[in-house]
Amino acid sequence: MHDILVLGSGIAGLTTALHAARKGMSVLVLTKGELSHSATRYAQGGVAAALAAPDSPDLHLADTLVAGAGLCDADAVRVLVDEGPARVRELAALGTRFDTETDDAGEHLLLAREGGHSLARVVHAGGDATGAEIERALVEAVEASDIEVREGAFAIELIAERGRAEGVLALLPGGEVGFLRAVDTVLATGGAGQCFAVTTNPTLSTGDGIALSLRAGVACADLEFVQFHPTALHHPSMPRPLLSEALRGEGAVLRDDDGEAFMTGVHPLADLAPRDVVSRAIHERMRDTGVDHVWLDATM
Ligand SMILES: Cc1cc2nc3c(=O)[nH]c(=O)nc-3n(C[C@H](O)[C@H](O)[C@H](O)COP(=O)(O)OP(=O)(O)OC[C@H]3O[C@@H](n4cnc5c(N)ncnc54)[C@H](O)[C@@H]3O)c2cc1C
Repeated sequence: MHDILVLGSGIAGLTTALHAARKGMSVLVLTKGELSHSATRYAQGGVAAALAAPDSPDLHLADTLVAGAGLCDADAVRVLVDEGPARVRELAALGTRFDTETDDAGEHLLLAREGGHSLARVVHAGGDATGAEIERALVEAVEASDIEVREGAFAIELIAERGRAEGVLALLPGGEVGFLRAVDTVLATGGAGQCFAVTTNPTLSTGDGIALSLRAGVACADLEFVQFHPTALHHPSMPRPLLSEALRGEGAVLRDDDGEAFMTGVHPLADLAPRDVVSRAIHERMRDTGVDHVWLDATM
């Protein structure tokens, strides 16, 4: 029996596993595909953190609370903005190669600006390959550690005794069902984008952890909050190819079929308004014009 059983091998699962292993715990990571399979490796634009002046955690907090339109859990946002910079540095120390530039003052991280942020605070890697680079570094760190990994192992049921998780039943690669026990079980199985007809999320994002929890009687919160990327390529392939927000961060402008830049006047940040504002504006413009797409003008 392990101390910790981690379900999922994206950034959440592998970070948890590495932290627990560093504390001397025995860790088992269970993942339904290969170790690197995750939504994490699809992440493009980057990671927001207040890394250097003139930015600050308080400014990041203020931007996030505004973007949250009164619905944020302020304590959770405080943890995010205060601990974010250290987590980014931790990923860098682990071997994640974030994009940098060198000037007279030396080498520093390149920062991009994205929707809802009042200044550039998004670190990225390989241009728009941030998630792939983070996942690569995490997978290499896990492979170099004592963490045990079981790939192709599909968690199908949380086993609880007297209100405490004892582990999971999992469908193993040979087709048999195994009971994997641990003192503590961590669910890091990612999101549920595949519940929607159109999504940028990979096929593995099927909300398994939520389903496992609900079936085991575990309280789940905030399930109504699903974030949609405002812009993806108007193409039938699925998942839809994301058109990263970094494009608008670099000056690309949303236009309707008549060429009108319709975000001006909708929000003071125009094309860099928070994602829910941009998504609603796109939806309304398509509904009002009877057209099933808008344009992203990156000819600036
Ligand atoms: C196209 C795209 C672009 C994005 N861009 C950004 C960005 O620029 N910046 C940003 O901050 N975020 C971005 N995101 C969001 C970000 O990728 C996710 O929020 C984050 O990666 C989620 O990490 P996670 O570890 O929680 O889940 P995931 O990375 O999805 O990992 C879940 C893991 O659980 C495993 N799993 C699931 N069910 C089971 C089961 N039943 N049994 C065993 N294993 C299971 C999966 O195989 C996977 O390994 C983007 C997402 C997408 C799809």
